[in-house]
Amino acid sequence: MAAEGKLGIQRCSDCQLLRHPPRPMCGQCHSLQWDSVEASGRGTICSYTVLTHPQFPGYDYPLVIVLVDLEEGTRLLSQLVDCEPAAVDFGLPVQMHIQEDADGFKLPVFRLAEDR
Ligand SMILES: [Zn+2]
Repeated sequence: MAAEGKLGIQRCSDCQLLRHPPRPMCGQCHSLQWDSVEASGRGTICSYTVLTHPQFPGYDYPLVIVLVDLEEGTRLLSQLVDCEPAAVDFGLPVQMHIQEDADGFKLPVFRLAEDR
């Protein structure tokens, strides 16, 4: 879904439980049927870390990696962009954006929400 500018969350077709990361079987009802819903992209920072080493080409360091509690109830590991590492804190509201890299590959990243 990221290729269309959307963030999808896997959903059990039988009991409607949302799950992330995606996996074949529902942990609640053991159903193998699933579809997905589009996430709002809104969430809060559950945890974070700042990476300085090792550095891989194509990324701007330091990298702020965040574990986001999406408002839908699932958690997502992603990158916080346009934010100084000193400004990051637990519980801050964030908004997902789809970022496209030089190769045209699209990934969900987060920015601090503007309506804080
Ligand atoms: Zn289920």
